[in-house]
Amino acid sequence: MDLYSVKTYLRPKSLREVQNWQTDWNWLAGGTWIFNEVQPQVRTLVDMQRLNWSEIEVNSGGLSIGATCIQNELLDFSFPEAWTATNALKDAVRELASFKLSHAATVGGNLCLALSASTFAPVMVALNAQYEIWQPNGEAYAVDAVDFQTAPQQTILQPGEVLRRIKIPIGHLAQWQTSFKRMAVCTAGYAIAIVVTAYHPQTQQVRFGIGGSVKSPRLIEFDSVPTSEQIGGVIHELPLNIYIDNERGGAAYRQHLTQVLMQRGIAELTAGIDGKRRY
Ligand SMILES: Cc1cc2nc3c(=O)[nH]c(=O)nc-3n(C[C@H](O)[C@H](O)[C@H](O)COP(=O)(O)OP(=O)(O)OC[C@H]3O[C@@H](n4cnc5c(N)ncnc54)[C@H](O)[C@@H]3O)c2cc1C
Repeated sequence: MDLYSVKTYLRPKSLREVQNWQTDWNWLAGGTWIFNEVQPQVRTLVDMQRLNWSEIEVNSGGLSIGATCIQNELLDFSFPEAWTATNALKDAVRELASFKLSHAATVGGNLCLALSASTFAPVMVALNAQYEIWQPNGEAYAVDAVDFQTAPQQTILQPGEVLRRIKIPIGHLAQWQTSFKRMAVCTAGYAIAIVVTAYHPQTQQVRFGIGGSVKSPRLIEFDSVPTSEQIGGVIHELPLNIYIDNERGGAAYRQHLTQVLMQRGIAELTAGIDGKRRY
């Protein structure tokens, strides 16, 4: 894609170099979206590569993923064996698109682009992640994953603010089992519903990260394994206008798919409990 409006290309080593942020500047991470779309409003690209924010760190608090971590690196990283929930991160990479894309695209780029089809957003919601945001003046604040995106392609980020890292607490990594369910109208098509189920066999807690079908990712939690009817009940308590309604799928259809994927996700994770399937 020829970005004909871009006149300047910056590669800062530190945020201090871009403190005078202008409204027609744009962060450049992996570039898989930026270079794939016309961006008439962009005059300056600010390449994040030399900021060196691509770490994957295991620490006493849990997992920290730098915003410019290339998605594919999550597939090869050796996570602690007990951190079963990291399977959901690997699913987010595999379910996104082709391997060509995930070799260049970053985790932060996926979250900040905030497409409804984001595979990472519902994973981060299910795993109770927090995002660290840096302001142009160097100050930082944290936001829960579930509060980051406000609508398709809209986040709480203000001009010049940048996602620095994603933190997943240890309490939502160890022993949690996960299932990733994605539905599209055709194979490899745009997702119209995504449900990431996280289940803790000891405590019986269940967390559903909902994406794809809704305007912004949602969290639905249960203190014990829900029945099919309980899932249906919660789904129908939520207003229909939280769902996307467009040519790929109407709101009621997406609502139904979300319910089905939740039922399938928890059925998969609890299959065999007490010698019987629950669904
Ligand atoms: C064939 C194809 C299929 C695709 N399929 C999907 C899909 O199924 N689901 C999906 O979600 N996306 C999809 N995409 C879109 C996109 O490639 C991915 O979302 C990718 O993960 C974006 O990451 P990136 O690092 O390349 O972001 P970039 O293209 O570099 O940036 C994306 C946007 O995020 C901003 N940004 C990036 N990093 C930060 C940061 N740290 N802080 C603040 N702002 C930031 C940029 O300014 C830009 O506006 C697809 C793209 C293609 C070409």
